[in-house]
Amino acid sequence: MHIMKAFTGIAVSPGVVTGPVLVLGSENFRIPGKFVMRDAVDAEVQRFHVALDHVCRDLVANEQLVSSQLGQQYGAIFSAHLQMAQDPRLVREVEALIRDHCRSPEFAVSRVLRSYAEQLQKLGDQYLSERALDIFDLEKRLLRQLLGESREELRNLTTPVILLAHDLTPGETAALDTRYVLGFATEVGGHTSHTAILAGALEIPAIVGLGRCLAAVSGGETAILDGDHGQIIIDPDAESLTRVRDSQARSQRVRERLGKMETLPAETQDGHRVSICGNIEFPEEVRHCIKRGADGIGLYRTEFLFLSGNREPSESDHYDAYCRVVEACGDLPVVIRTLDIGADKVPQLMEHQFSQSPNPMLGLRSIRLSLRSTGMFKRQLRAILRASVHGNVRIMFPLVSTLLEFRQARMILMDVMEDLEEEGIPFQRNIPLGMMVEVPSAVILAEEFAREVDFFSIGTNDLIQYTLACDRSDPAVANLYRSGDPSILRLIQMVLKAADNHGKAVTVCGQMSSDPRFIPLLLGMGLRSLSATPQAIPRLKEVVRNLSMTEAVRIAQHACSLDLARDVEHYLQGELARLCPDLVNGSGF
Ligand code: PEP
Ligand code: MG
Repeated sequence: MHIMKAFTGIAVSPGVVTGPVLVLGSENFRIPGKFVMRDAVDAEVQRFHVALDHVCRDLVANEQLVSSQLGQQYGAIFSAHLQMAQDPRLVREVEALIRDHCRSPEFAVSRVLRSYAEQLQKLGDQYLSERALDIFDLEKRLLRQLLGESREELRNLTTPVILLAHDLTPGETAALDTRYVLGFATEVGGHTSHTAILAGALEIPAIVGLGRCLAAVSGGETAILDGDHGQIIIDPDAESLTRVRDSQARSQRVRERLGKMETLPAETQDGHRVSICGNIEFPEEVRHCIKRGADGIGLYRTEFLFLSGNREPSESDHYDAYCRVVEACGDLPVVIRTLDIGADKVPQLMEHQFSQSPNPMLGLRSIRLSLRSTGMFKRQLRAILRASVHGNVRIMFPLVSTLLEFRQARMILMDVMEDLEEEGIPFQRNIPLGMMVEVPSAVILAEEFAREVDFFSIGTNDLIQYTLACDRSDPAVANLYRSGDPSILRLIQMVLKAADNHGKAVTVCGQMSSDPRFIPLLLGMGLRSLSATPQAIPRLKEVVRNLSMTEAVRIAQHACSLDLARDVEHYLQGELARLCPDLVNGSGF
């Protein structure tokens, strides 16, 4: 019987793809080809038994060693695993899958053990669901035996796959080979987790926050990953495959229409020009922004220079990357944000430094870290200043929470300028200096900050996290994490007002500005500058071009009168459906 499985999570990067699933366990095993030749089944059954014997011998040895050193109650953990491994029913089921269905031993082991684990997890009992972990442990042991040294390295992919993992770190995501990774889905993660943001940057369809599902998938199955609607279907039936092809064709038509937006300005029907810049993590992405008609780079997340390497970038690594971005942008502005390391963006080489933090989201991160690691900070600032002579560069500090922090960071910048001057190295002396507004304290003191900065950029991703006290990457609190929360709208209004009082520019560069629903609201509140993921730019232009500022003001007034995030978002969705029906019914988002 055909059993199709579907899991739903949070759509974070659009596009629909089909292909074989590659499941990444914590040890990144890859389950190879599902089927074996009929005349090879005896040898494959034999291979399973050899692996099983080996695992059983290891378990006995582990049990003896641990019992003698720590006591029998600890050794008993391994006797339980041994009992499981020798369970005749389990052995029969694996053999039957190999013999009767020509499945590879790796696939059979994984399928049988995961179905047991899934049954345990479904019982909803904490103790039993933890026993599922023992089953995964046994699965890993068997796979290690069966696969020998051939553990999967994501770097070594040679055929296209859909990745399914518990989690991918931003570093792993950044290193994905987009020729072979058609799309990915993870059990954890939220809309604005950095892994999600990177999926957009790499333009790979992606879903996060699926919840537990790895136990039900062995790998090798065909899947449909729908990054528009946040659904992954394993072993789809013919009807689903047809539906997907229709939806791919529809999305393609919308994309083609949006392609025409690339050369048109973001101007409302009554002649208000809005600046739409792109957010980037890597220099290569400038190309995507320019192609889509961005007005510049509104946020360059430079910490990604650290995440894929195993040494700290030198001044010349920084300089080369910045020059590539600045030169590709010509006269267009480039806002280079200084390092935002910490929380979920911890480079491998700094892991030990962060491992003690009881709460990394509230710990030593971003500008706080730069102010403590002045050598590293100065190297970056020197490189930015040196690159500033090649174009239109601006500097921005992340996660500023006090005036003192901003002043200290500015002082360090001044020091670096003096050094460069003494060395006779050219740079742009009056380089604009701004800050991210992503902590409530910065909003509360926005009037004071506005006197000192050249510009603000509102980072709604963190602002929502810190205002509503909910982790941006935790699907368990995704219901609280909402751009439409009235408290967030109120904070944005406060920043806009303070900036206006002091004649300073404001941009919104969090994911909120990549979501077309919020565009009429933000413009109606007075915002004239957005920075978004490159993929979103054509959609945003379309919304701006279908809108008049009078309408935007009306929409903003009504949205700001509502007191529940749900109502705000529902209302904005309705307005978007009226303005641009295709963006709601077509290719997601
Ligand atoms: C933000 O917090 O909104 C932001 C743009 O910064 P990041 O997503 O890199 O934390
Ligand atoms: Mg942030």
